[in-house]
Amino acid sequence: MAIIGLSRAKEENMSNTLTKPIEVLQVAESVVSCEGGLGRLGHPKVYLHMQGPLGQVARQVTCPYCSRMFVLTGEPAHQGH
Ligand SMILES: [Zn+2]
Repeated sequence: MAIIGLSRAKEENMSNTLTKPIEVLQVAESVVSCEGGLGRLGHPKVYLHMQGPLGQVARQVTCPYCSRMFVLTGEPAHQGH
């Protein structure tokens, strides 16, 4: 019961701070292109590089135009091939 109560409170808090749900897309590469894709919310095509502050490959990137989040799935990208 207590856990359910906490979960509900967190959910309400998130809906207060966010006007719209963030769309999360799972991708297999650390470089993705985004152009909105939702018709009326489209924007110029941009390439997003998942790169950390020190140049390492990050696991996610958020589009500055439409706020969609791209999450890297599978194995970490090694420079093997
Ligand atoms: Zn976008």
